[in-house]
Amino acid sequence: MMNPFRVLHQSKKSRARVGELRTAHGKVRTPFFMTIATRGAVKTLAAEDMREIGALARRDAGATEPKRSGGMSGGGRGGPILLSNTYHLYVRPGMEVIKKAGGLHKFMGWNGPILTDSGGYQVFSLANKNRNPSPVLRTPSPAGRGGSNQFPSPRGRGEGEGQDYDVRITKDGAEFIDRISGRKDMFTPERVLEIQKVIGSDIAMVLDVCAPYPISKEGAREAMERTTSWAERSMKVLKHESIKTLVFGIVQGSVYKDLREQSARDLVALDFDGYAIGGVAVGEPQKEKYQVVDWVAPMLPEDKPRYLMGLGQPEELVEAVRRGIDMFDCVLPTRNARHGNLYVWRHNPPQPSLTLREGDRPLLPLRVRGSERGLRGNFYDTMRITNEKYRADFKPIDPYCECFTCTHHSRAYLRHLFKINEPLALRLATIHNVKFYLDFMVGLQNAVVEGTL
Ligand SMILES: [Zn+2]
Repeated sequence: MMNPFRVLHQSKKSRARVGELRTAHGKVRTPFFMTIATRGAVKTLAAEDMREIGALARRDAGATEPKRSGGMSGGGRGGPILLSNTYHLYVRPGMEVIKKAGGLHKFMGWNGPILTDSGGYQVFSLANKNRNPSPVLRTPSPAGRGGSNQFPSPRGRGEGEGQDYDVRITKDGAEFIDRISGRKDMFTPERVLEIQKVIGSDIAMVLDVCAPYPISKEGAREAMERTTSWAERSMKVLKHESIKTLVFGIVQGSVYKDLREQSARDLVALDFDGYAIGGVAVGEPQKEKYQVVDWVAPMLPEDKPRYLMGLGQPEELVEAVRRGIDMFDCVLPTRNARHGNLYVWRHNPPQPSLTLREGDRPLLPLRVRGSERGLRGNFYDTMRITNEKYRADFKPIDPYCECFTCTHHSRAYLRHLFKINEPLALRLATIHNVKFYLDFMVGLQNAVVEGTL
């Protein structure tokens, strides 16, 4: 099979690159950000909303298509791409319904690409919560693969729930018991791939063991070795069938350099379609996150996409892209939107001006500064729309933004909707934040091509 990924432009300044990933539901330009649709819906949005936001981003991007990166016609940056969760879809509505619907794309009316996380993370979060005796899972994870949150809002694991299960980890996989029905079930590496095939994922993740933070080296090693052995079992399945789904391996090893390196070596030898770096954004300090990426990214093949799971503040994405990462997901834009926290450009957005610049001074590369919790880049601000000062402010949320919300409604109206708990508030806010992130990724792509990142 032809390699579905190719690098279109390699930065001379850093490890950053712009690439193109071909999936069964279209091509996507990297680096890209996946919008979270855990249970088959981007919270508060219809699939049509996502198409519209994506069409806007594509139109802008098409106009600035760099000739030398060539090959993509019709402004085809592709995307947006959604991230759903195998475990949550398996529990509800269940595979029988998804199968009868003809797969998740048809079920939810979305014909763009979908990546599904394996569900391992959710299962293991539950195991942590239930104080599983395995040394691998001794410490509860405080933040989860949902990433850190810069705004005061409820913390939790992604956008799902699932407190209704007891979980037990074995060598073979994860056994979980439905507290409502009493039904016992098992997630194995083989089964998780089967489920993702029924879902019709464009990109499937193998089942991994996501170690919490902090964890002893012994515990981290056990989690990493089990992840590798499950990856081998996954590969055995894949060798016997031809599927359109791209399958990614997940590098583990916590904050231990030799474990991360061993994990990367073992997984690269198995030759997956792409590689994820897992077990980051689980509560460790910022410095350790970047260190893990610094160790692992250079060990991954140049011609395969690299996915950093669960990291998502804009300045974190800049740092990770600079370290050679191509794919991201995070609950931040959608969750923050629902809490009335909106992202706005401090200056002109990255398009159509191509780069994050202020006059002649490139805003990229950025300096990440400030305290751990209050991190801000120097190119955007956050707005708490419920603030009193927006009561009679009839400007759009962001004068630079072309999203439906900004072209049709004022800050005052959106604030009013939040104040009266009108569901429309959540939808309008989500549309804006998702557009901000898609624009931001186009800005990063442009910055790489222009040589400022
Ligand atoms: Zn907007």
